[in-house]
Amino acid sequence: MSKKMEKKYKPEIVEKKWLENWDDSLYYFDTDSAKSPYIIDTPPPYPTGDFHVGNALNWCYIDFIARYKRMRGYNVMFPQGWDCHGLPTEVKVEERHGLSKRQIEKHEFRELCKQLTRENIAQMKGMMQKLGMSIDWSKEFVTMDDRYKRFTQLSFLKMYHNGLIYQEEYPVNWCPRCETAIAFAEVEYEDRDASLNYVLFKKAGTENEYVEIATTRPELLASCVAVAVHPDDERYKDIAGKELVVPIFEHAVTVYEDESVDPAFGTGVVMICTFGDRQDVRWWKLHNLPLIESIDERGRMTAVARGYEGLSVTECKKKIIEDLNAQGLLRNQEPLQQSVGVCWRCKTPIEIISTRQWFVRVMHDDIIKASEEIAWYPEHFAIRLKNWVDSMEWDWCISRQRIFSVPIPVWYCLKCGTVKVASEDDLPVDPSIASPKGPCANCGGTEFKGEEDVLDTWMDSSLSALWVSGWDLNAGAQSGITFPVALRPQGHDIIRTWTFYTILRSLALAQSKPWDTILINGMVLGEDGYKMSKSRNNFISPDAVIQKHGADVFRQWAAIGGAVGSDVQFRWKDIVAASKFMQKLWSILRFAMLHLADYEREEGAAVNLRVVDKWLLSKLNKLVRSVTDSMETYKFDEAMKDIRTFAWNVLADDYIELAKSRLYGQPGDEGKESARYALYVTLQTLSKLIAPFAPFFAEEMHYYIENDGSVHNADWPVVEPEMIDRDAEAEGDLIADIVRAVRRYKSEKGIALNAPLGTLAIYTADLNQRDTEDIENATATKVELCTTTTEASEPEAEGTVLDVNGTKVRIKS
Ligand SMILES: [Zn+2]
Ligand SMILES: [Zn+2]
Repeated sequence: MSKKMEKKYKPEIVEKKWLENWDDSLYYFDTDSAKSPYIIDTPPPYPTGDFHVGNALNWCYIDFIARYKRMRGYNVMFPQGWDCHGLPTEVKVEERHGLSKRQIEKHEFRELCKQLTRENIAQMKGMMQKLGMSIDWSKEFVTMDDRYKRFTQLSFLKMYHNGLIYQEEYPVNWCPRCETAIAFAEVEYEDRDASLNYVLFKKAGTENEYVEIATTRPELLASCVAVAVHPDDERYKDIAGKELVVPIFEHAVTVYEDESVDPAFGTGVVMICTFGDRQDVRWWKLHNLPLIESIDERGRMTAVARGYEGLSVTECKKKIIEDLNAQGLLRNQEPLQQSVGVCWRCKTPIEIISTRQWFVRVMHDDIIKASEEIAWYPEHFAIRLKNWVDSMEWDWCISRQRIFSVPIPVWYCLKCGTVKVASEDDLPVDPSIASPKGPCANCGGTEFKGEEDVLDTWMDSSLSALWVSGWDLNAGAQSGITFPVALRPQGHDIIRTWTFYTILRSLALAQSKPWDTILINGMVLGEDGYKMSKSRNNFISPDAVIQKHGADVFRQWAAIGGAVGSDVQFRWKDIVAASKFMQKLWSILRFAMLHLADYEREEGAAVNLRVVDKWLLSKLNKLVRSVTDSMETYKFDEAMKDIRTFAWNVLADDYIELAKSRLYGQPGDEGKESARYALYVTLQTLSKLIAPFAPFFAEEMHYYIENDGSVHNADWPVVEPEMIDRDAEAEGDLIADIVRAVRRYKSEKGIALNAPLGTLAIYTADLNQRDTEDIENATATKVELCTTTTEASEPEAEGTVLDVNGTKVRIKS
């Protein structure tokens, strides 16, 4: 069968062809397989509709590993999930339909959210397919579907019954704009301009003795429940243990001595409010202070703020400063740069509000121990998790006051308020619509109110490892289930959320770490070196690259752009280099196929290999070894660089020049057969080595070379140690060096490369006559081997002497 190959490689045609021809089942996880399972806990992205370049980088890494592991004989599961719930979709739906979520029924609103999510999933899925991801779509999961929802709610029941989930009135981070509690992991810190206000507090029982207190939050005066000074601060010895009167509100508060007061900040006296910040919560707990809430869930002042009731926090601050000033109680105002905790979604400054919420118990030590049992790549990211866990003071708040999320499966008895938890066969359940089975266990009441709150979306996604492994929350560990799974790939931006929560949940529900290995990827920077963002206009979509150069080229950039874990800069010149490499490899293949189209390798047939062919195969085996080592340690950049260097320098520049004449020789000729064998083995091996990186190109190569099956079903090449031949490499290197030196000489002298030079006298004992055939062919010049090396430096001898790494080559005309 003859296959005509065009001169130019056309990824748009080749990639489209394979996308249409590949059978999905090529990538299916085989439940009945005897092979070792290799399960990947793929990130379920938030379905925004945009599979951006950062996602694409992460997924390229995953696909490199999945394809490699399949070829290494593993039964690979590369599933894909979608983490659907959350606020961004609610906001988009409101915008799209021009409505507020409070205007329509919750279940109608959820339907609209689902509809948008499905459209977005379809778009992102299309991009994943175009990029050549070998995803097992039979294992797709969608967190908003009933099956997954049931799993999430069941996990809630299990942890509730184990005492790991509880409800409590407690201060939580609250976004007044989104009107929901948020977890610490969702609080971001931003530097904002603030002012430090020096306010006068009167000493209780005096007429006009005052203490100055500097505060950035005078609007919290109504909530002031105490004042604190450092115990060693001599300035305030007289007021410790005494009382001060809060200006405007006129209530008395006690002055505490506390080591954590910074005497250098402001005046060294601080006011403690419920709650201005996290430190206030610590003091509130420590000194058992009263709770006076002056800000409500929508960020408005409450009745305790008296004359300021109903104002927003900002309005109240302005008004109180005016009033303090009017009463002569504001001594000074200084500008201040302040790090403010803001909502990750809307950037509104968060408030700390005490409300009744659901919490998951955080088992700090267990999480750190499990993290230490996981192999981290790169290793240094492990410390990020440890620092985060060490800094956590409060449990994980899992209730959210939103709509598009998994409902918390509980009711409250209308008579006595006792919590009634759903039973397993009710699940999935929406307690705002359905009623529980049976009466209240406490009072026998039969009327209930369903929980309005829903679960934090991390409650869904932190189950991904358990879900993909097929874990049964009732049966626990059982045959056929692999847990922990092999690999978690993810970005470093979600270590304190997704990594942390997944470990926590796996320990709670399966008493095990979730994975053996975690692989952390960096972010993508734009051409200008800054983080890619639409506002910076340095944004590249993977599709733009694919349109121009194909998915294989994008994937090569992902491999070679930087080490795994570091931030990777996007550069068009890398894309162009990758594209040139594809063309180079195509030209090599096209040339090779002129000589291999009818090549049938006879199994076991002895081939009498020429030294240059041995040299090529020795280097090829070393390449297999280095690429395999790199793949095992996720050094995709090194693997890809080694492949390119070999194909470009060793194979194309040196070998093909040396072996060309023999390849054009008579059929059956020993030299020709030796070269055909070496070229065939090399190209076949290369097609496998590039299969993880450039799956389309590799398949096209395989199609020409093998004409049967898929390269993605093939076995990964193994190193044949007997093929690594130091002598052949030394001889081959010398031959290649001589040919290069002679060609350089010709081009310096303006002599055509195919013009003969007379005779080349090579003074070496390291070559034998047969080896010189390739030099003669490649230089078009007759070779004379001189084993007596002294002759080389005889000055009176005719011709130019080239020094090739110490070996003398005399060019006699
Ligand atoms: Zn918000
Ligand atoms: Zn009751």
